Amino acid sequence: MKAHHTPLRPMPTITSPSPSPVEYMRQALELAQKSTPKPTNYRVGALVVDATINTVLATGYTLECEGNTHAEQSCFIKLAREHNVSEEEVGAVLPEKAVLYTTMEPCSQRSVGNVPCVERILGLGKGREDGKGIKTVYVGVLEPDTFVRENTGRGRLEAAGIQVVLVEGEGLVQDILSVATAGHVRTDNDSATATGTA
Ligand SMILES: [Zn+2]
Repeated sequence: MKAHHTPLRPMPTITSPSPSPVEYMRQALELAQKSTPKPTNYRVGALVVDATINTVLATGYTLECEGNTHAEQSCFIKLAREHNVSEEEVGAVLPEKAVLYTTMEPCSQRSVGNVPCVERILGLGKGREDGKGIKTVYVGVLEPDTFVRENTGRGRLEAAGIQVVLVEGEGLVQDILSVATAGHVRTDNDSATATGTA
């Protein structure tokens, strides 16, 4: 009997699951590289992502927006502008499952007059009955001790019920620190020199 070939139906396809945390962190790192290297700050990149539909809602990097702006802060400023709300009201325009990716642990301490990023993040969900706000903060590295002795960012976020997740990827920590400290004076015990072997 002659082989009978039934026409094949279109094959169902599956795409690889949306960007992984490592891929998002690499995106944040690319943003960090846009920041002008300076001795006085780290170059950090950040993304606000709608985790339900895996869509980037805002991007930011150190000193992107006017003033002495941090990466997370730049994200929030841009979201506020986009939705025509004040920075304090950004929580209201966030989706239910908003997460933040930042190459470095959000700061808990800043010089006078600057609101630390941890407070900005906590502020988004503060007093909201709709449950909106940042639910998870993915960080690439915890903050080194260069500018502040001890960043309590992680602890404060966790105390407020926000999950803090360290994203691990091959060479990620070295790459993040190398980008973050590019404008810093290199010393022998500086992590930046560890990657300067090229
Ligand atoms: Zn900050």
